[in-house]
Amino acid sequence: MVRILRMPSESIWLDPVLSERLTRYRAICKGKKIARFLIAKKTPVIGLDDSENNIEKIWLKHKEVHHDFNSLVKDCDKGNVILKDIESPEISFLDLKAKIADKIIENCHFCERRCHVNRKAGETGICKLGVKSVVSSAFLHVGEEPPLVPSGTIFFASCVFKCVFCQNHDISQDWNKDNINIKGNEVGSSHLVAIQQKLISEGAININWVGGDPIPNVHNIIQSLQTLDNNIVQLWNSNMYLTQESMNLLVDIMDFWLPDLKFRDNAFAKRMSGVNNYWETVIRNIKFAYTEGSGEIIIRHLCMPNRIEKDTYPILDWVKDEVPLAFVNIMAQYRPEYRANRSEYKDINRRVTTTEMQLARQYADKNGIAWRQV
Ligand code: SF4
Repeated sequence: MVRILRMPSESIWLDPVLSERLTRYRAICKGKKIARFLIAKKTPVIGLDDSENNIEKIWLKHKEVHHDFNSLVKDCDKGNVILKDIESPEISFLDLKAKIADKIIENCHFCERRCHVNRKAGETGICKLGVKSVVSSAFLHVGEEPPLVPSGTIFFASCVFKCVFCQNHDISQDWNKDNINIKGNEVGSSHLVAIQQKLISEGAININWVGGDPIPNVHNIIQSLQTLDNNIVQLWNSNMYLTQESMNLLVDIMDFWLPDLKFRDNAFAKRMSGVNNYWETVIRNIKFAYTEGSGEIIIRHLCMPNRIEKDTYPILDWVKDEVPLAFVNIMAQYRPEYRANRSEYKDINRRVTTTEMQLARQYADKNGIAWRQV
């Protein structure tokens, strides 16, 4: 069967705001700049024995090498250094990250649920995942934001949130790895390499880690990148409920960020998604990706019924003040699915009105936020 892909027109890049703010992303897509994980592979870790097990010492070394890594990224971007001319170090920055991730999973704190279970020993936390990942599907996605398609999207089963309105609850919350209904595949890192290579061969311009949510799979993703050699954008598409530790691992190796920013009100977030400290956690991580990472970000804000003043406006205010060069996809796709039509959720049991969407977009315009491009 011949598959016809709807390719985005190159003309989208005539938009000066888009081309100026996503310069590095576009250059990687065109093979003119190098994906960050490949640079991390060539950044040496010196003065740390491979058998070192003291996690504090390992983190200290990580902090030190983070600076060397940033210098190497700058040198590569300026053309002062040709990456392929650098010999692969005995221990690379990416190896160090894989080692730390392998320790985190023994006392799991990839997300702010901080279950502290040993997933290697068969214990499971809120996400119900062991060491292996469960991939629900992987395909070229042409429905993402125009600059991102065709996107090599890898959907993991499981999520660390319990959103009452989840449209993907079959893979995020109601999945069961022993149940064939989710068509799930338990995979390790080598399988993730093969999936990425297949997507690249089919024409993906990025690898889009999503779910459910990709957070519980940080260890397998990093391990897969230790093997992958293709110069391809790595894109983090997530609810962003990561710990600072996970962010420290990912911030150097993700080229593009596609975070959700749903709620301003923590009590509402708790009622909708079952998590504590939503706002502080998610804005901390988005700001960190903006200042310490690639800074190339599209924030997805799902407008919800009766929440424009309580959530949308303050979120747009925050974007204007704290991450002004981020794009915002102001989304109208909310539908009252899953548990949202129960009597206790009457306030969200409808779609967002045209008037509410107009108010959201007008407010974004008033704040000078770039949303039309995405
Ligand atoms: S990823 Fe999050 S939810 Fe899953 S076990 Fe680790 S801390 Fe718990």
